[in-house]
Amino acid sequence: EESPWVVLKFGGTSVSSAANWRNIAGIVRARLAQDLRPLIVHSALSGITDRLEAILATALTGAPTALLDEIEQRHATLAAELGIALPQAVARRVAELRQTVAGLALVGEVSDRMRARVLASGELMATELGAAYLRACGLAVEWIDARTALRAEERTGRHEKASMLSVTCDFAPDANLRERLAALPGIALTQGFIASDQAGETVLLGRGGSDTSGAYFAAKLAARRLEIWTDVPGMFSADPRSIPGARLLTALHYDEAQEIASNGAKVLHPRCILPLRQYAIPLHVHATQTPDLAGTVITASAGESAAQVKAICVKKNITLV
Ligand code: ADP
Ligand code: ASP
Ligand code: MG
Repeated sequence: EESPWVVLKFGGTSVSSAANWRNIAGIVRARLAQDLRPLIVHSALSGITDRLEAILATALTGAPTALLDEIEQRHATLAAELGIALPQAVARRVAELRQTVAGLALVGEVSDRMRARVLASGELMATELGAAYLRACGLAVEWIDARTALRAEERTGRHEKASMLSVTCDFAPDANLRERLAALPGIALTQGFIASDQAGETVLLGRGGSDTSGAYFAAKLAARRLEIWTDVPGMFSADPRSIPGARLLTALHYDEAQEIASNGAKVLHPRCILPLRQYAIPLHVHATQTPDLAGTVITASAGESAAQVKAICVKKNITLV
């Protein structure tokens, strides 16, 4: 029997405009109409994680008040565009962030633990706003803290830095999580990018890691598929933003998608393929702006041709020369 779970991952640009949020609500409704159970995983608003990095860079030398105000303003502006009041939960997260940042100046150092907490706040704020908007659309949405579901694998010694800022997580089928989400009266919505470690501390999956959060959730739920919704209508033979002749790749094998991701194409985080391949979960890549386009389907059946992926490496080499 096919799994009812479908994980929908939306990236930063996808969650940064009212037009995209209207499409997101439509995508969720369409899944519900097919009797599927969607889990929504999304990123911080575009540019917010970079702003948080900038805050960390200046937290010890000057009060980054302007950056903090800007972050709050971005969320308030989007709330206004969405036609809702800025949720109290967002205001609380912003206040918490201000306190954390003030604390850094007092302590006089930015530990990895604090860095992870500050960077995690982008996803925490954005998902409070996203949940509030979808509720205003009449969808029953339950905000879930991803740190209660994704647990970092333990690493020691010289990998300790990576143990907080670029973790890998356990992704074995998780009956507890499935039951927990199945018992919810509404649609679960959670954060990409963040997890917790053995001590319950906030840890990160590395920049761009929300794709991998989506893959972990899909594997844990034994989902029917993972849908990655981004700002380009699929995976291309090269970055469509820098190479206008790049071709859309409509069907790829996991190996081919992995090769593209490993070569630094930002469209997929390099760690997101492994959990999907291991449990034979298809990955669909679409653009949130144009939800009706077919996009790219990534599975274990052969892709269109290995030559397509080789074409990327040739182009890469030319660029390098
Ligand atoms: P998101 O915020 O949705 O995670 P990203 O910015 O991380 O989106 O990734 C999407 C971007 O990846 C696209 O805007 C595109 O410029 C870039 N990209 C690089 N290589 C490729 C490729 N081969 N196919 C598609 N997009 C690519
Ligand atoms: N917000 C995080 C980043 O900008 C994670 C992600 O978007 O995947 O890196
Ligand atoms: Mg990304």
